Parts: sequence; structure tokens; C-alpha cells
Amino acid sequence: MLTDREFMRYNRQLSLDDIGESGQLNLKQSHVLIVGCGGLGSSAALFLAASGVGRLVVADGDDVDSSNLQRQIVFREVDQDSNKATAMAEQLKQLNSHVSVRAIPKHLDGMQLQMEISLADVVLDCTDNIETRHAINGACFRTKTPLISGSAIGWQGQLACFDYQQDTPCYRCLYAFEHMAPGTKCSDAGIMGPVVGIIGNYQALQAIKFITKQDRSQFGKLFLFDAQYLDWRSLNLSRDPSCTVCGGEHEIAL
Ligand SMILES: [Zn+2]
Repeated sequence: MLTDREFMRYNRQLSLDDIGESGQLNLKQSHVLIVGCGGLGSSAALFLAASGVGRLVVADGDDVDSSNLQRQIVFREVDQDSNKATAMAEQLKQLNSHVSVRAIPKHLDGMQLQMEISLADVVLDCTDNIETRHAINGACFRTKTPLISGSAIGWQGQLACFDYQQDTPCYRCLYAFEHMAPGTKCSDAGIMGPVVGIIGNYQALQAIKFITKQDRSQFGKLFLFDAQYLDWRSLNLSRDPSCTVCGGEHEIAL
């Protein structure tokens, strides 16, 4: 049941025909894991907390640096040198006290990563390195947990959603390589702040839509955003039969 205060608070959202009280209850009962508390995670977490997702878990091992403040909008100047997950959790609690927020102030990997993913209804990959992305993808595939993956560099953004409760290609089908090419991290290639905000907001939007059982035809597609021309393109993804995660011909990669 929603309380009167919750009805008031989420009125503009639950008055949408496709959401209603049942959709808001779905959000209240949901558990979302956000791995990575940078620019993508900042925007996604703020909107998920504001929308009334009942349980948010945020994980990151890094501390806030002054060079993060240009795009990681959940942080304030006073948060510099604090752990990102801890600082983010404090901001989210201040935004919405109805939401249970737990911070994991470390780099999630191994069994802990798998356990946290198995507890979640939806996982947002907001990280910035390919090794962690593959680890998240493998754990989501094994636990059949939906994965909403975002990335951004320079003026370009990408979004891909995978519903592992369905027959679908996986993240490794899309990116089979193990290491990122030099110059493909924000720290050395640069990033336009609103681009990570746009992709993070799309990740939050897709999570809300998944939890409230909206149309899922965007799952299994790759969306590419060019901020210079405000152009979105989409590509249908197909399964790589030699994929070491979902291809079925190999041992599942950890
Ligand atoms: Zn695959």
C-alpha cells in the first residue's frame, strides 16, 4: 500500500495511465543496484531515488576529485576526498527519505559482485572500464538479472539493455574484447558533462520502465547518441554463437 504522503509525493508520476498506483508500488518494492558512482551513476541515481525506487544500492571504490564535479552532479564541493558511494548515498537520502540507500564504498568484484547482483531486480552498469563491465555482464547473465548498460566519451553516448530472463544476446556479444583501446577513458579523452547526464537519465528511464512493466522492445538493441548533431541511432543486436558468456559452446566466463 502507498501512504497518503507517498500519493502526494509521486502524484505527477502515478497519474500517468501506464503507471498508476500499481506501478508506483512496483517501484516501492524494487531493488536497484548501481555499479559506478560517476557521471552516469549520478544522474541515474538521482532520478531513481526521486521516483521512489524502494531500495538503492550504490557501489564505487573511488573518492570524489575536483575534476569530477564538472559532470558528476550528485556531488558537492564539500564531498571532495570522500568516497563516492558514501557521498552519493548521503545526497540520495536527503533527496528522498522514503528510499532505503546502502553504500558499498569499494570496487565490487568476485563473489560479492555476484551476490549483490543476485539480490537486485535491475542492475545499472555505470562503470568506466571494460573488465568490470564484463564481470557485471557475466554475473547478470548467470543470475538472470536485467542489465542496463550506459557509457559516454567525448560527445558520444551509448545505451544497451539486456533482459536475461529472456532469450537475448549479451554485453559480451557486443564487445568481445578484454581491454579498452588507449585514449578511450574520460580521464584522457575528455567528456562533455551533459552527455553522461543524458545517458544516465536514459538508464534511469529504462529501469523505471522495466520495473513498471512498460514496453520492452528496446531491450536487445544498442542506442548510439551523437551530442554534436543531437542524433540517435539504434542497432539490433544479435547473439555471437562463439560468445563465452551466452553462446553455449564454452565454459561460462567468470
Ligand atoms: Zn553473449
